Amino acid sequence: IEHTAYQNDKLAMLGKIAAAIAHEIRNPLTSIRGFIQLLRPHLLQLGKDEYARIIVAEIDRANDIIYEFLNSSKPTAPMKQEISITALLKEVILLTESEALMRGCMIQLEAYEESMMVSIDVKQVKQVILNIVKNSLDAIEDVSGVRNGLIDIIVHRSSNGVEIIVRDNGKGMDRATLNRLFDPFFTTKEAGTGLGLSVSYRIIRNHGGSIGVDSKPGEGTAFTIHLPLIG
Ligand code: ADP
Repeated sequence: IEHTAYQNDKLAMLGKIAAAIAHEIRNPLTSIRGFIQLLRPHLLQLGKDEYARIIVAEIDRANDIIYEFLNSSKPTAPMKQEISITALLKEVILLTESEALMRGCMIQLEAYEESMMVSIDVKQVKQVILNIVKNSLDAIEDVSGVRNGLIDIIVHRSSNGVEIIVRDNGKGMDRATLNRLFDPFFTTKEAGTGLGLSVSYRIIRNHGGSIGVDSKPGEGTAFTIHLPLIG
């Protein structure tokens, strides 16, 4: 018991230090961003507006990394709660639907049973599904105009739990990307952080579940998440 308490203290301390450092880095970043915006008209006159655009974009990326790092460095023991997995998926769809519509993409839910109860940390698992759906939206954007974007979310019972599949008809991934997509900071996006899937992987593993991926370049991608059921 003593050992656990000590570990928790240490984790809490680390979390506090990370938060304090992040705060101290964010403040100067905010002023740098502000002053660059003020200099923008002058840079424009010099024909150097592109520099300002890059500086601002990179500051925004640094801020995103700090934000996601803070989220992922918090103590990860799931705070479990009993919830219907279908209800959670519907909520994720509600959160992403307008963004999807703007990109000409449809999100469909196929649930074979209305009430499949799982014991999960609702916030954490919602974050995982959100990360995956947002990646699908990005992957679809890259081929938009060629065909209509479609994201299928399928949920059904498996032998000892539930299986959630998120399938898109986006640009897909080559082998090199597939080999690294769960690595922290691996990204192929200009403004990506590369943290979404590494955090997702850890969350699902902490729930005693698993996450897998199947993808074909030019055809699409399917993520499969397995979560254990209650009882
Ligand atoms: P980020 O979205 O910030 O790049 P992630 O960890 O969420 O970070 O994803 C890592 C990389 O995996 C992405 O940059 C992308 O190349 C690839 N990826 C993830 N999901 C998909 C998908 N549905 N379709 C195609 N590529 C994907």
